[in-house]
Amino acid sequence: MQPQPCTGVLNHVQQSKTLAIRPFSRWAFLQAVFWVLGVGIVLSLWLRPTLGLHLLWDGLIPLAPLLLVVVPGLWRNVCPVSTMGMLPHRLGFSQQRAMSASQRLQFQWGGLALLFVLVPLRHALLDTQALASAVFLLLAAGFAFFLGRKWAWKSAWCAGLCPLRPVESLYGFRPAATFANAHCGSCGLCSTPCPDATFHASRPGLVPGGLQPGPRKWITGSFVGFIWGWFQVRDYVAFPLGEEAWAIYAWPWGGAVMSYGLLLLCERLLPKPVHPKLYRFWACAAVCCYYSYRLPALFGFGLYPGDGMLIDLSPYLPSWVVFLGVAALCSFLVWWMLLRIASPAAWMRRPPYALQVTATPNASK
Ligand code: SF4
Repeated sequence: MQPQPCTGVLNHVQQSKTLAIRPFSRWAFLQAVFWVLGVGIVLSLWLRPTLGLHLLWDGLIPLAPLLLVVVPGLWRNVCPVSTMGMLPHRLGFSQQRAMSASQRLQFQWGGLALLFVLVPLRHALLDTQALASAVFLLLAAGFAFFLGRKWAWKSAWCAGLCPLRPVESLYGFRPAATFANAHCGSCGLCSTPCPDATFHASRPGLVPGGLQPGPRKWITGSFVGFIWGWFQVRDYVAFPLGEEAWAIYAWPWGGAVMSYGLLLLCERLLPKPVHPKLYRFWACAAVCCYYSYRLPALFGFGLYPGDGMLIDLSPYLPSWVVFLGVAALCSFLVWWMLLRIASPAAWMRRPPYALQVTATPNASK
């Protein structure tokens, strides 16, 4: 019989090393493929900078929001940085320290801070400097690996400091499918609630991924304004200084504060309890705002010609065709996130519990 989850603070997790190395599966194959793709992107950033920048920022990243809306569990199973973070656990040399609730909250705020600092940095550095992007990817992978050596399972990176996680939590409340958890293999109760197997109801108290209330409220309210502000700034080939450097942060941060304030105002004015659709609407507005700017930019119709462009179709296509594409994609997102009747589902199934899960009060110190 499966052991029941520990309801108290889990301070230490001991895992049999035989559980750490898991048989090769289809998921392991996919993880290996995505890991090789990640290495390929880093190499191309180094050896073929223009190609690498296009692959990363104009190929992979624009697909990410859609992926997180429809199949967030798929991405979390194959993300190469997550694979690096779980490597110490899978090879049996992670210290498997458990995280207290306050540490978890600090890590989640840390992930949000990284998101809000790094994304504007794209305009100043990452979008145009391939070497900087390569270093950024290597640092993320190295940092995830370093944290995985110390902390249990996904608690430090995938459930904590990963800057993408708040966005996964915001967008992924109506997943198309629930997958097996390909990284964990067995559950050591590293986070409560589990970042992957939490039942999603998209209410402020029950957002997917188990974000704590503070980070959850901030990402929900601020992200649409943050995205809008981000697209008001152009890319700089040389690192901007002075007013321009301020602008790359002032626009997205200013937008974030405004949309967060607007959400608070709506909460105040609407009848209590506030309907969960308000929070879903804010999430849907964020992803629609993203594609309303990003799709035209990809095909040469952006606010700043050349920025974020994959292929220039502007000489061949009337602009209304691209904007029709935006309207179609946003209609799909509105239907998926707001109108569709969907059974609540988790991103992943929780695997069987690890052999030994014991509480030792001082282990997390
Ligand atoms: S399945 Fe268990 S070990 Fe894996 S992330 Fe969830 S709580 Fe942590």
